[in-house]
Amino acid sequence: MIAENLHKVLSTIQPGIRLVAVSKFHPVSALQEAYDAGQRVFGESHVQELVEKQQLLPKDIEWHFIGHLQTNKVKYMASFISLIHAVDTMKLLKEIDKQAERNNRIIDCLLQIHIAKEETKFGFTPDELRTMLQEGEWKQFSHVRICGLMCMASNTDDVKQIADEFESVRTLFQEIKNDFFPTEETFKELSMGMSGDYEIAQQHGSTMVRVGTMIFGERNYS
Ligand SMILES: *Cc1c(COP(=O)(O)O)cnc(C)c1O
Repeated sequence: MIAENLHKVLSTIQPGIRLVAVSKFHPVSALQEAYDAGQRVFGESHVQELVEKQQLLPKDIEWHFIGHLQTNKVKYMASFISLIHAVDTMKLLKEIDKQAERNNRIIDCLLQIHIAKEETKFGFTPDELRTMLQEGEWKQFSHVRICGLMCMASNTDDVKQIADEFESVRTLFQEIKNDFFPTEETFKELSMGMSGDYEIAQQHGSTMVRVGTMIFGERNYS
């Protein structure tokens, strides 16, 4: 079932867009099933769960952290995390840099943009993002690599609103790329789209979609 779902999702994803299989709240056996079907990139949003799964599953998995990350928990994942999607403060970026240095690594990060009308309180508004990048403290961080932006669209059935939100983040991405990362080839990722809206996101410049329910089914939070 999971293998079938995975292949169905993959068949609808445009070439060049990467699929992050969002496996939060699903058991290790479910991830193993997706792994056996060829999936290597998994997204988790709780630190303890991520660390437990990382220890139990094959070592060639690329783990992405997609949730809200507390500064004091960065240390638990710094040795292995491949990409942190939702960096939403300078303080967090600084801590990731510190923990990456302790582990002799460079950790790839995306900056979360607050775009949805009411869904989440996390993320930089476009103006906060510009101010933060202009202030320039991040340029001293030699153990993080800012690879792009991430956002969540509003949780609505209004397709036009979702499309407008993704499009505005695409425009912001271009602006930020031109103003702050013009020669950095690694600033190229736009993490946008979940089960309900990834088909819209990929029409608006997404390079990475984060899909859970369509692969693993409904989550059991008990
Ligand atoms: C849970 C989650 C997803 C996946 O959501 P689905 O609707 O199950 O595809 C994607 N992104 C983030 C940030 C999430 O927390």
